[in-house]
Amino acid sequence: KEILLEIKNLDAHYNVDGQPVSALQDVNFSIQKGERVGLVGESGCGKSTLLKAIMGVLAPNAQITRGAIKLHEGDLLQASPEQRRQSRWNDIAMITQSALNALNPVHKIGDQIIEAIQSHRDVDRQQARTRATELFELVGVPPQRLDDFPHQFSGGMRQRAVIAMALALSPEIVLADEPTTALDVIVQDQIFERLDLLQKEQAFSMILVTHDLALVVESCSRIIVMYAGMIVETGPTHEVVRRPFHPYTAGLRYAIPDPSTKYEPISIPGAPPDLSQQINGCRFAPRCPLATSKCELEMPPLVSSLASDAARQTRCHHADQMDQSRDRFHDQSF
Ligand code: ATP
Ligand code: MG
Repeated sequence: KEILLEIKNLDAHYNVDGQPVSALQDVNFSIQKGERVGLVGESGCGKSTLLKAIMGVLAPNAQITRGAIKLHEGDLLQASPEQRRQSRWNDIAMITQSALNALNPVHKIGDQIIEAIQSHRDVDRQQARTRATELFELVGVPPQRLDDFPHQFSGGMRQRAVIAMALALSPEIVLADEPTTALDVIVQDQIFERLDLLQKEQAFSMILVTHDLALVVESCSRIIVMYAGMIVETGPTHEVVRRPFHPYTAGLRYAIPDPSTKYEPISIPGAPPDLSQQINGCRFAPRCPLATSKCELEMPPLVSSLASDAARQTRCHHADQMDQSRDRFHDQSF
């Protein structure tokens, strides 16, 4: 399979009151052409920061201090601002949680899409409008509503319009940051179904950030679990969820109700570490029931956790104990 996007040794921090707050550390992964990957982890673990870094839209106080973001071999971090601008929306598109931020309230929605197309493609207004009409049909909004303003749209329709905008230039990869979180459950399902269909038809790659582990299980072949700015586990979704090797993944797994087991959902006590402090050991150690003094002193590397499957990787000194310890996570011995 062809690798489309490759993130290598990425470190990033935010400057807050002159102090660095580590938001991403040693992030490594790659995405194949057409692949759909789910990115999960609790609030503040760096999911949006990672997507913004890829998209090239980090906040001004953010700084990437190490690593590479390679799209087809070329490192986006070495590209000129103009190359970066060209690549945005064209190669990589982003759908964020709040459609309201993505749409300009004072312009008609159709005009915004047309303008986005014309800023990247040498087409006249009529051609761009034809494309916008086609896009509205794709996402399930009647094309006559191209002449509406954002406030005339319901939340669900606005989110569909944002998806239309993201797909306008047929990007190779779509970064979806909690694309349906702000909507009610029924509309969420409808929109997700549509996105699902479009992804299958157009075969773009997708990174889906969500708090809904069940949605990842349903729709993503691979999962990346982040904790406090680091990838702690990755692999084929079903395998990871069925047999987690990182205690944090086990905690996430048992935090959702599962009708097939007798266990009540549990949540992991404690909170993520303060990322403005230097942490040498495992960032999960203070909350981990398996932690030993080694965990407090030494950051574990992200390595293959299953000899039979190189795609399964875990960042834990005690991954080899998980097969014997997994039940403890059910038994609320956290
Ligand atoms: P959520 O699930 O709540 O969206 P997230 O995983 O997307 O969380 P990020 O938004 O990437 O997390 O934040 C990662 C860390 O960086 C957090 O500690 C957050 O407080 C911090 N952070 C994010 N944006 C900024 C900023 N502009 N300035 C300073 N710190 C920031
Ligand atoms: Mg976020």
